[in-house]
Amino acid sequence: MSESYDVIVIGGGPAGYPAAIRAGQHGLKVACIDEWKNYDGTHAFGGTCLNAGCIPSKALLESTELYHRAKEEFAIHGIKLGSVAFDVAAMQKRKAGIVKSSTQGILALFKAAKVTPLAGHGKLLPDRRVEFTALDGKVQVLEAKHVVLASGSQPIELKSAPFDGKQIVDSWGALEFAEVPKRLGVIGAGVIGLELGSVWRRLGAEVVVLEAMDTFLAIADQQLAKEAQKHFRKQGLDIKLGARVSGAKVENGAVTVSYTDAKGQQSLVVDRLVVAVGRRPHTAGLLAEGTGVELDERGFVKVDDECRTAVPNVWAVGDCVRGPMLAHKGKEEGVMVADLVAGHHSEVNYRTIPSVIYTAPEIAWVGQTEEQVKASGRPYKVGSFPFMASGRARAMEAGQGFAKVVAAQDDDEILGVHIIGPMAGELIAEAVLAMEYSASTEDLQRTIHAHPTLSEALHEAALAADKIAIDFPNK
Ligand code: FAD
Ligand code: NAD
Repeated sequence: MSESYDVIVIGGGPAGYPAAIRAGQHGLKVACIDEWKNYDGTHAFGGTCLNAGCIPSKALLESTELYHRAKEEFAIHGIKLGSVAFDVAAMQKRKAGIVKSSTQGILALFKAAKVTPLAGHGKLLPDRRVEFTALDGKVQVLEAKHVVLASGSQPIELKSAPFDGKQIVDSWGALEFAEVPKRLGVIGAGVIGLELGSVWRRLGAEVVVLEAMDTFLAIADQQLAKEAQKHFRKQGLDIKLGARVSGAKVENGAVTVSYTDAKGQQSLVVDRLVVAVGRRPHTAGLLAEGTGVELDERGFVKVDDECRTAVPNVWAVGDCVRGPMLAHKGKEEGVMVADLVAGHHSEVNYRTIPSVIYTAPEIAWVGQTEEQVKASGRPYKVGSFPFMASGRARAMEAGQGFAKVVAAQDDDEILGVHIIGPMAGELIAEAVLAMEYSASTEDLQRTIHAHPTLSEALHEAALAADKIAIDFPNK
């Protein structure tokens, strides 16, 4: 007799493991199957986010930002350090330690929620049966009342610059460099290009970023994008827009990248090339013939707003379905599905998913950009407040950037908040909460913010929307 579960989750990343934990919290019998393998061949739960994405990238961003500040800013505070040096091996070791404890932590969370972890490959068969191939090759067919597909995504490979794992690498490879490349090329000025470009630039690499689009950070509010571009240029990230890569040749330990831009055919020689042009859903080997689960034209598992696939009681969440590829989006979907499976009401508010780019200054937003609101035709107002007018930001030597609120003219509802500046990724949480409750700028205006804090910038931006800011002249 095959083992039977209430819920089997395939994929133990930030979408799959929260689905399993919440289902366990509901008292359901749950298994979570995951096949992730690290470079050293060891298995770990946590998916891309914990092993090769959010967590290791933030660990390196923190270390390199501290180094940069020690070198450039400590003297301004009157702190004399003498010479400041870095040790890439020590940074990588710290990062690996954080990753390991985080991924092992998932097993402890599974234990607490009575989730059975199954290390190996999962394949959905017809009738909600799942073929599980353990790491030792042993195959078992399991049965489930509900199956949640959470198989995640993989980096997109360019035909013109295929990965070789040494000179031409994906984002995971770029997180593992044992030394600082003298010349680093990055294809794609998206979130990964900017974060990882910053990491290696801060340690002294000459970084050139080739971006196909003519517009920088086209997904962001353009006032925010322009401010960001100014800072990245100042930091020495050489971002070339409208650059279309046609080839990359590895020779004598260097990569020659050919591309065309407005000036015609160009070439660039670098020691390492990172290709970060987006990610695609990972569904290879996930679905047997005849399951009835449908994929769309881009390979995403087709789901409705509640993450139901075309097959009853088969659900899909996270990067393998439509929507932004963000860990917290996947987590909310995983939790929602587990709640729905257990018969509880649940939903994801897709209008309030925040985006954060963990550069310096940090960039964060939620809701609509000013361009989107303008295009919608709805009359709107904008309030913004520069961090250089924030006492706390100035005390921190972090007076770059601004907070911006876009709100409806008619009923004052906040439609979008865009922040570039210190701790923007933390500050945006207030805006997300405000928008979750359909707050107006008046609600933010009447909310008391401690002084001196960075959060006052959002308060003042809300006041500025009605031209009643106190700490900055109203325009
Ligand atoms: P994944 O994390 O990809 O997990 C899927 C898991 O399923 C994997 O372990 C995979 O091995 C396993 N799997 C797949 N198929 C099978 C199968 N058939 N059987 C068994 N197991 C299977 N997002 C943020 O929100 N914030 C960030 O700061 C951030 N930083 C990032 C930095 C980098 C460098 C990268 C690459 C991504 C980053 N992301 C970030 C994106 C984030 O990592 C993803 O959105 C998130 O990991 C998606 O979660 P998921 O669970 O859907 O998929
Ligand atoms: P992205 O979509 O953010 O950026 C890819 C960039 O590459 C775009 O600007 C695109 O125009 C450009 N591009 C595409 N094809 C190109 C080509 N042939 N030549 C030059 N440029 C090209 O994707 P990413 O940076 O690879 O990140 C992948 C996913 O991971 C994203 O969905 C992102 O949300 C997620 N992620 C999130 C975070 C975070 O939340 N802080 C960090 C890293 C990654």
